[in-house]
Parts: sequence; C-alpha cells; structure tokens
Amino acid sequence: MTARAHTIKIAEVVRETADARTLVFDIPDDLTARFSYRPGQFLTLRVPSERTGSVARCYSLCSSPHCDDRLAVTVKRTAGGYASNLLCDITIAGDPVTVLEPLGTFGPRGLDGDLLLAAGGSGITPIMSIIKSVLVVGRGSVVLLYANRDRRSVIFGRELAELERRHPKRLRVLHWWESDRGLPTSRRVAEALRRHRKREWYICGPLGFTTVLRSAAASLRVPTHQIHLEEFRSLASNPFEEPTPPRESATRAPLTTAAPGRSAALEVDIDGRTHHFRWPRTERLLDVLLNNGINAPYVCRESACGTCVCAVKRGRTRMVRNEALIDAELEQGLTLACQTLPESDDVRITFEQ
Ligand SMILES: Cc1cc2nc3c(=O)[nH]c(=O)nc-3n(C[C@H](O)[C@H](O)[C@H](O)COP(=O)(O)OP(=O)(O)OC[C@H]3O[C@@H](n4cnc5c(N)ncnc54)[C@H](O)[C@@H]3O)c2cc1C
Repeated sequence: MTARAHTIKIAEVVRETADARTLVFDIPDDLTARFSYRPGQFLTLRVPSERTGSVARCYSLCSSPHCDDRLAVTVKRTAGGYASNLLCDITIAGDPVTVLEPLGTFGPRGLDGDLLLAAGGSGITPIMSIIKSVLVVGRGSVVLLYANRDRRSVIFGRELAELERRHPKRLRVLHWWESDRGLPTSRRVAEALRRHRKREWYICGPLGFTTVLRSAAASLRVPTHQIHLEEFRSLASNPFEEPTPPRESATRAPLTTAAPGRSAALEVDIDGRTHHFRWPRTERLLDVLLNNGINAPYVCRESACGTCVCAVKRGRTRMVRNEALIDAELEQGLTLACQTLPESDDVRITFEQ
C-alpha cells in the first residue's frame, strides 16, 4: 500500500438529498499539513469489501480550503454501485476511514479568472469547492451550468442559492433539470453557453455528461487549452491492496554497469531529494520508482486521475496512454508517471511543483 494512506475519523454525516451524503472529516493536528489541499482535489477512500478486502474510490472535496474548517466529501449513490451505496447506508459519525492524502490536478491555478463551471449530478463536489474559493478569496466571476434529474436531486441547492444572493454580480447558476428540459445535448448546451466561450471551462461529472460538454465546447470552438475535465468513474485498480510491482525488472545497478540502449539513465527529483536509477525501456516510470522504494504519488495507474503527474526536464519520453493531460500541459513537458516510457538515453524528471 502506498505510504500516503492515513486512518481518520468521520466527524459528521450530512443528508444532502435522498441519494447523497456528505462525510465531514476530523483531521488530527499532526496530519493537518498532509491534508492541505487545493480546490478541485479529491480523497481516495478505502471501502471494506468481504470479497476483495477493499475497494478504492475517489471522492472530490466539496469543502473549500479557504473558508471551511473541516474537509468534506459528498457521496451520491450510483445505481447498482458497491461503495457509494455502502457509504450512504452505513456510515455514521465516529467511524474510522482509511484515505489517501488529497490528490488531483483538476481546478484553477488562480482564483481571479472568469470561469465557466459545468457539473453533472455529483460532479458538483469539486465545483462547489472552486466556487466557494473564488468567491471568498478570488476576484473572478463564475457561471455554473448544473445538470440534474430533477429539482429534488440537486445537491447544495440551498447553499448555491444563498451564494448567488450574496454575490449577484459574481455567481450565476443555470440549472438544467432533465424532468423539465430532457437530457442535455451538445447542441442545446452550446446554445446555453455560447456567451461564455471566452471563459476557462471546468467540467465535472460522469462520462455521458463530460462527453456532451466537451462536444458543446468543440462546437463553440473553445480552445482545448481552455477546457479542463474531471470524469467520475470507479477505479479498476486498488492502491490500498496492490502489492508494489515485482522487483526483478527494475534494477538498482550502478549507472555504469547497466546495458546501454536497453535502459535509460534516470535522474528524478521527488520530496526534496534527487535519485538516480536505470530505467528499463519497457518499464513505466511509476513502476521503476515504486520498485526502488520511492514513495511516488499515484491512485488509478490508468492515466485517468492525473495524480502521478510530473515534468520531464531533460531528455525525451512518451506516454502509452493519456486521458488526463491537455495539449498545453504536454507542451510544458508534463507527463503521467504511470504511463511514461523513456525515449532518450538520459532523462531527468521532477515531481516538485
Ligand atoms: C477523481 C474522482 C472524483 C470523484 N468524486 C466523486 C464525488 O465527489 N462524489 C461521488 O458520488 N462520486 C465521485 N466519484 C465517483 C466515485 O469514485 C465512484 O465511481 C462512484 O461512487 C461509484 O462507485 P460504486 O462503488 O458505488 O459503483 P461501482 O460498484 O464501481 O459501480 C459503478 C457502475 O458500474 C456498474 N457495475 C459494477 N460492477 C459491474 C460489473 N461487474 N459489470 C458491469 N457493471 C458493473 C454498476 O452497476 C454501476 O452502474 C469520483 C470519481 C473520480 C475518479
């Protein structure tokens, strides 16, 4: 298991709607620094399972680091889903829960720009954190498109109405209830958002929703570097149960003895230290690091969550798959360690932000 897991206590469970519960956490004083976070980041919860020991599920923080004292996530039931129903049904205040420290790359770097935020159902969680943060410490304005089945399934409806009342010039909420307007389609969403195409877009929700929004943005010719996505789905992997990958393919051999051509020389900066390893050509960067006892951040290992993002400072690499990074980030040299293979003989990577 990654060493970035901690067991913390649930301080409170809040019923938001028939299908959604907010879990508020108590963070002990000695872990406060480890649980500092940016708006848009998520926690990964270990949910016990009799069949597999546990499953890992990500839940975005709906609290704001700028105005909420306690960290909170909101879980919405997924029909037929394992963890979400368990969390909504049996979790009570005082329960311990094992979680990874906050992770993720979704969310604006600054809070002063004008944003178009789009949330489908439970996708409101990181968006809520962003909205509160912008309104409290930023200068930007926010337009929110918020799609739900009907009025009763709206999470944070009252809180949003109150924020809109307090900040009428800076927050505008456009509700989309399927009960009234049908499912959002690319064409109709584009019509509704045409005026906002110059803004930075942050889109969050299940796959169907993000697909519609992405297509609406494309039809409005919103540049891809202005579009940021967080897609809610379950992890196929489990960072709590997985053994680290087998050691034999990675090597601690000194740089001079490794066969040239079959591996690259890797220099990596992480957690304030610099390490040197041989990097076999067919082995992904994250595996090389974990095999060598480096506590690199990761969650999904499927290129989706963006947790293992790092930067290539020297040499060339390629990614086997990329679902998290946009073109502008690739141009800056960012890469996902779980998918990265070396292309040149000498590569320097940094995880330092
Ligand atoms: C970065 C991130 C942040 C997230 N934040 C939130 C959040 O704030 N709030 C929130 O509610 N969710 C969030 N999610 C989604 C969350 O992690 C879970 O995916 C969600 O709760 C569903 O998990 P589950 O265990 O209930 O469903 P699962 O058991 O994983 O099931 C999901 C779907 O797959 C179907 N399914 C399950 N098993 C099978 C099978 N064997 N064959 C076919 N179909 C199957 C189920 O019927 C269901 O429709 C987030 C996801 C990510 C990646």
